[in-house]
Amino acid sequence: MKQFIYADNAATTKLDIDAFEAMKPFLLDEYGNASQPYSFARQPKKALSNARTIIAECINASPKEIYFTSGGTESDNWAIKGISLNGTVAPIITSQIEHHAILNSCKTVETMGIPVTYLGVTKQGVVDPAVLKNAIANSTKLVSVMYANNEIGSVQPIKELCEIAHNHGALFHTDAVQAVGHIRIDVKELGVDLLSASAHKFNGPKGVGFLYIKNGTPIQPYANGGSQESSLRAGTENIAAIVGMAVALKKNCEQLDQTHNHLTGLEYELLRLLRQHSIPFIRNGSENHIAGNLSLSFPNKDGEAIMHILDLHGICVSTGAACDSVNTEISHVLKAIGLQDNYAKGTIRISLGKNNTEKDVRLIADSLKQIESKL
Ligand code: PLP
Repeated sequence: MKQFIYADNAATTKLDIDAFEAMKPFLLDEYGNASQPYSFARQPKKALSNARTIIAECINASPKEIYFTSGGTESDNWAIKGISLNGTVAPIITSQIEHHAILNSCKTVETMGIPVTYLGVTKQGVVDPAVLKNAIANSTKLVSVMYANNEIGSVQPIKELCEIAHNHGALFHTDAVQAVGHIRIDVKELGVDLLSASAHKFNGPKGVGFLYIKNGTPIQPYANGGSQESSLRAGTENIAAIVGMAVALKKNCEQLDQTHNHLTGLEYELLRLLRQHSIPFIRNGSENHIAGNLSLSFPNKDGEAIMHILDLHGICVSTGAACDSVNTEISHVLKAIGLQDNYAKGTIRISLGKNNTEKDVRLIADSLKQIESKL
C-alpha cells in the first residue's frame, strides 16, 4: 500500500491497536446477542456494561446516562429532534457554525413548526455569551452549541453558554464530536444536559458513538423497537464497536496531556516552517482551539487545487469540512467568521493527530512551499 502522510484527523482517525485487539473476540467468538438470557450471552452483556462504565468515567457521567448510537450524526439528530419534538412547540437556538448533522436536523424541525435561531459568531469562530443572552427567551426549549468546531478548531465557552440556557429554563446540548478524547470533559462541571460523541474521531472504530443524556432529561426515543438502551434507542448493540470505542477513549483520555503537548509542538513547528519559507497565509480560529487543527488560508490561491496537489505528494488534508467535500462552495463556517472570499477560497484544513511526527510536518511544509510557488 502507498504510504501517506495522514493529516486529516478531524475527518477520521486511525483505529488504535489496543481497541482493535479488544474488539476481535466479540467479532469472532463472543458473538452472542447481549439481550439473550443464556450463558453464551454473558460475556457480550458484561462487555457492554463495562464499556458503558468506562465511557461514563471518562466524562464524569453515570453509566445510566450513556446511550450508544451509530455515531456523531445520530447523536446530534437525536438530541435536536428528541428534545424539540417532545410535545410542546417551543423555540430552539443553535449557532451558524454547527456541523450539518445539527444544522440539517434544525432545518427538519423548522419544517414542523419549531422556530430556530442561528447565532452568529466572532471573527475567531466563537459564540459570544452576550449574543446568546440577547437571543434567548424564557420560552426557549433547547440551546445547542458545538464544543469545538470541526473546520477551524475553535473551542466554545460551553459552561457559560449552558448557564445562560439554564437561567432561562432551557436545556443545553453540545456536539462534542471534535472534543471528546481530545480535551478533558466533565459533564457535571460543564452542566450540560446532552452531549454527542463519535468513536472514529478519537481512534475508535467508525459507525459507533454515544449520546450523554443527563438523568431526568425529557427526551423522545430515537428508534422504536426492543428494549435496548433503556428503550430509547432500540436495536441489537454492536458490541465489538462499543468495546473498541471504550478502549480507545480510555487510552486517549489517559494520554490527553502528552498528546496535547505533542500536537502543540507539531503545530508550532509547522507554522514556523511556513513563515521561514515566506509563504503568505493566515490562520483561522481562536487562541483556544483543538490542538493540531490548523485552518490555513493562502490568499488568492485555490484550496481545492492545493489539496489535490498535496494528495499527489502523498499528503492527506481537507479543504473545508470533510463531511462536506462534495459541496465546493465556500463553507458556512468560513462565511460565518466573515473571511474574505480570496482567503476563504484558498483555505485548507490540516488536522494533525497523535501518530503524526516532526518529519511529517517538515514534508507538509516543504510540499506547501513547492505548491505555493507553482500556483
Ligand atoms: N459533529 C461534528 C462536529 C463532526 O465533526 C462530525 C464529523 O465530522 C459529526 C458531527 C458527525 O459524526 P459522524 O461522522 O460520527 O457521524
